[in-house]
Amino acid sequence: MIPIARPQMGEEEKRSVRAALESGMLAQGERVRQLEEAFAAFVGVPHAVATSSGTTALHLALLASGVGEGDEVITVPFTFIASASTVLHAGARPVFVDVGEADFCIDPAHVEAAVTPRTRAVLPVSLYGQPADLPALQAVAERRGLALVEDAAQAHGAAIGERRSGSWGIGCFSFYPTKNMTTAEGGMLTTADGDLAERARLLREHGMRVRYHHEIVGYNFRMTDVHAAIGLAQLPKLPALNERRRAIAARYDRELRGVVTPAVRLGVTHAYHQYTIRVAQRDEFAERLRRRGVGTGVYYPIPVHRQKPLLALGYGEQRFPVAERLAGEVLSIPVHPSLTEDEVSTVIGAVNEVAAELGPIPSGTRA
Ligand SMILES: *Cc1c(COP(=O)(O)O)cnc(C)c1O
Repeated sequence: MIPIARPQMGEEEKRSVRAALESGMLAQGERVRQLEEAFAAFVGVPHAVATSSGTTALHLALLASGVGEGDEVITVPFTFIASASTVLHAGARPVFVDVGEADFCIDPAHVEAAVTPRTRAVLPVSLYGQPADLPALQAVAERRGLALVEDAAQAHGAAIGERRSGSWGIGCFSFYPTKNMTTAEGGMLTTADGDLAERARLLREHGMRVRYHHEIVGYNFRMTDVHAAIGLAQLPKLPALNERRRAIAARYDRELRGVVTPAVRLGVTHAYHQYTIRVAQRDEFAERLRRRGVGTGVYYPIPVHRQKPLLALGYGEQRFPVAERLAGEVLSIPVHPSLTEDEVSTVIGAVNEVAAELGPIPSGTRA
């Protein structure tokens, strides 16, 4: 079976972890500091704050932006639950707006209309590795006095023009094993705002600048040096790994037939965390690919506003036609950098066969 993801673990990672273990310094220390510095440079911002996960990076970004009780945060329902659950954890209310059908990202036109006096932040998701329209969103955020928190958990190395994801407002990255780079578990907050980075550091570590002197009530959202050691070995490989993802995606773009392939906005460098097609009879399509030895993923089968905890909060009556339709049509096929050309050919052959068997998605739903 060709798997949907395959983390890259080489000798560099093993040596780096071994050195960290043998140093006797295991918790947040010098290696975390080095990873922060290197990742900030990679994104092109002066500050990066490492965290225990992408989820805690989002939570920290919201808290450091002053989001709290009674506030609203505008985000999308077509994403991983953490984009919304962290808003709830901060005591605020997610306000969902629909995504664009072509790029699967927040539609900036909907954002302005959703702003109320309680809105504190806008939280776009750079889904599958395509940055949301961050310049347009930053313009809205500045006009309305909102924080801009990009969920860049899938967008390491993605860019608009020369500018990378994570360099508008606050960027929140995940280093979960399936992401474009990993630390096993881990995350990173990136920002050009030194004061915000300082608040994030304080909140990350129990409000403590001087040991056991607590200035505020904080959290333990720290990364360990053992995890940072993996990241320090991964980060230098990321540009080449992303290039490989793009080369595989280019073959899919050229050679797939009978399915809707992902649209990339002009000037965007896609990081292809996922290569996501839209197909008819999605679950049957996935099953037929599985029988041909091709693993797939569905990100995500249920929009966030229809997830159980959100239903309990009364979101279930809301309608987001694009997100709801996409949830039934999207199918991610393997695009990870360790695929061989033969494996890519196998995926292409299998997708084209199944597409011919099951036919196109119903007309009127194409991007
Ligand atoms: C992976 C992911 C997260 C959460 O990151 P973790 O490191 O798993 O906590 C948040 N948002 C999106 C869109 C993700 O893909």
